[in-house]
Amino acid sequence: MKIVPHHTFSPAAGLHSGRVFSGATALLAALVLMLAPAAALSAGPASTPESETPPELAVGTPPISVTYTGNEGFLISVGNWKILIDSLYHEGIATYVSPSRAQREEMETGQPPFDGVNVALATHYHADHFHPEAVGRFLQNNPTATFISTDQTREALSKAFPGYEDIKDRVRGLTPAEGGVAREKVGDLDIQILNLHHGRKRSVENIGFLIHAGGRTILHMGDTEATATDLSPLGLANKKIDLAFVPFWYLLTDGWQRAIRKQVAAERIVVMHLPAPDANDKYINSLGGWEKVAADIKAAFPTATIFRQQMESAQF
Ligand SMILES: [Zn+2]
Repeated sequence: MKIVPHHTFSPAAGLHSGRVFSGATALLAALVLMLAPAAALSAGPASTPESETPPELAVGTPPISVTYTGNEGFLISVGNWKILIDSLYHEGIATYVSPSRAQREEMETGQPPFDGVNVALATHYHADHFHPEAVGRFLQNNPTATFISTDQTREALSKAFPGYEDIKDRVRGLTPAEGGVAREKVGDLDIQILNLHHGRKRSVENIGFLIHAGGRTILHMGDTEATATDLSPLGLANKKIDLAFVPFWYLLTDGWQRAIRKQVAAERIVVMHLPAPDANDKYINSLGGWEKVAADIKAAFPTATIFRQQMESAQF
């Protein structure tokens, strides 16, 4: 299957809101959390910017640590689990943030902070979310990791990656019917796969991931254009979602905003698929420029997190 380029939305990196701090700080914070979870949770990471309130979590509830790899890509750590989502691709698509060659190498070969990833996920096969060689190498170098994506993505991987025979047992291609849910479980890591269409006129399958881990609930929507009506049968608003990764086009206008508020109802939002701040992206320019778009999103969703640069981290 051909890996086709992306769509009319321009997107790429972000500004930020909330608890965004540097990679080094995040690492330190993670270490502190590991060493003294209860104390760290009540005090918050020492270097968190003052404007950012650290998460107030019940004792024993693990924070969700998020590191931005570009576009819709994130490394998510929660409890004992490390999940890499929409991060294993190559050049990506112009104007969107994509990982540098060095970061790609770290991800594909399992070097820190990408070591010990349990599960890699891809919402669909577009070139700013997936590349067969990147996923194939990742699975070769992470012999216990599993990869989950759509049927179409699995097929693309099987055709384009020469070593597919050796990794195929750890590849899942799951595209449930719309409104239906598929499921993968590994220990207490529970991943529900939702069919969220990538625009009605497109044949590309896009799946969302509803992840339960360590008592926390996370939603990543991928490149969907599902409306409030499309989302309604999934009952997401009753799932007590702690953190939802939402493409920026949902956050700018009334009807789309309502879909997120009413049908997702997440405690916190991470904005994704925004073009890089300096990308001079046509669509973003038509909306008044990157800073204006970011400000508009923050006006509507004050606690939304918008990452500006790769490898920024935040905790939720
Ligand atoms: Zn796409």
